[in-house]
Amino acid sequence: MIEIKACPFCGSITPVALHTEESYSPQSGVNHSMYTVICDFNEGGCGSSCGYKHSKEEAIELWNNRIGMNVELTKELDVND
Ligand SMILES: [Zn+2]
Repeated sequence: MIEIKACPFCGSITPVALHTEESYSPQSGVNHSMYTVICDFNEGGCGSSCGYKHSKEEAIELWNNRIGMNVELTKELDVND
């Protein structure tokens, strides 16, 4: 089992799931699986996802290494046009 972190955007853990997609590769002429982690909108999540990777472990690592919600890092945005 691999530990997976809660969604950094909405804070939910229940809708966070591994998603598999079959992708056709013109170079090799075969289908291969790509993996991503999604915060499933249909399960009450916010619909965010991370990038696609060739292995489940890499996809989860990508998701887990996102900056969490409790960071102190901020920047100022100029909202006056
Ligand atoms: Zn979410």
